[in-house]
Amino acid sequence: MNLLSTLPDLLSAYVTSSLTPFGGVDPHVDWRDAFLMLLSPLFFAVVVAEWLRMRGEKRQGKAVYDWRDSLDSMVLGGVYTWVDVVLVLVFVLPAMNWLYAHHRLASIELTPLSFAALYLGVEFCYYWFHRASHRVRWFWCAHVVHHGSEHMNFTAAMRQSWLYSFAGNWLFYLPMVWIGFEPKAVLLALSFNLAYQFFVHTQWVGKLHPLIELVLNTPSHHRAHHGRNERYIDKNYGGTLIVFDRLFGTFVEETEAVDYGLVRQVRTHNPLWLTLHEWADMIRDVMRPGPLGLRLKHIWAPPEWQRPGTQAADNRAHASESAPRPHDPAHP
Ligand SMILES: [Zn+2]
Ligand SMILES: [Zn+2]
Repeated sequence: MNLLSTLPDLLSAYVTSSLTPFGGVDPHVDWRDAFLMLLSPLFFAVVVAEWLRMRGEKRQGKAVYDWRDSLDSMVLGGVYTWVDVVLVLVFVLPAMNWLYAHHRLASIELTPLSFAALYLGVEFCYYWFHRASHRVRWFWCAHVVHHGSEHMNFTAAMRQSWLYSFAGNWLFYLPMVWIGFEPKAVLLALSFNLAYQFFVHTQWVGKLHPLIELVLNTPSHHRAHHGRNERYIDKNYGGTLIVFDRLFGTFVEETEAVDYGLVRQVRTHNPLWLTLHEWADMIRDVMRPGPLGLRLKHIWAPPEWQRPGTQAADNRAHASESAPRPHDPAHP
């Protein structure tokens, strides 16, 4: 059985049997739509290699691998892969196709050079998607899932929110469609970018050659991104490159030992609650009585924002997040 040919067919059958709010699923489902799914055997092989090498190891007193934590990540990632492909085919791609058909500025032919330009453009969009995901509560509600592990290994890369497309991550890539790149090419460039990012989630690799560390997002830079140490909060947003962080002032070098996880750690193995907890917190904050403008500000303000005059006791869930973040007893 040839997986390369059967998986897109399977997806096509699955998607066309789903609801289609735009009324028009692109009938040409092909390997590009399932690129990350097709790479999953490679991802699993790399996980096994890392697990064999590092299963008994501890870093800063914490095991590199915790089977329960990795299982959580793989359940989240496995469901995410299917849910996201379907949402993209049912909703995101039709929306992008509509923009491309009716409002594009130009028609950019795909050549190796134009694809390189597209990749750079997608990386730029990814930087702003990722920065917004940390600094706007609405987007953080989805992205928080990725930061939920207190361990760092390749399985952490699989920890993704099922609600990314609902939150609107795809809106950040519309400029590339608008200027004239085909939607499927934009999404493929993004898939390549995400595939690269799998490989930066590891403690197996130390620092690489200074020239590589200068330009690319590396395991070292991304370990820092996953840290809740005050020094590392909201830094190193790049996907493949680290140059936009250097340009826009969000770069930090990995120097001190990284304490992985969330400032306000969620402790559950329930994949539904891992997906929904921050949405629930945000809705609860919005529902608290007060002026409408301040209530709605919980949606677009940074995750740690509190209403003026709020006492920590009034807002216990955020008590540990009142600035400066973080307040982790292990790392005062
Ligand atoms: Zn992040
Ligand atoms: Zn990550």
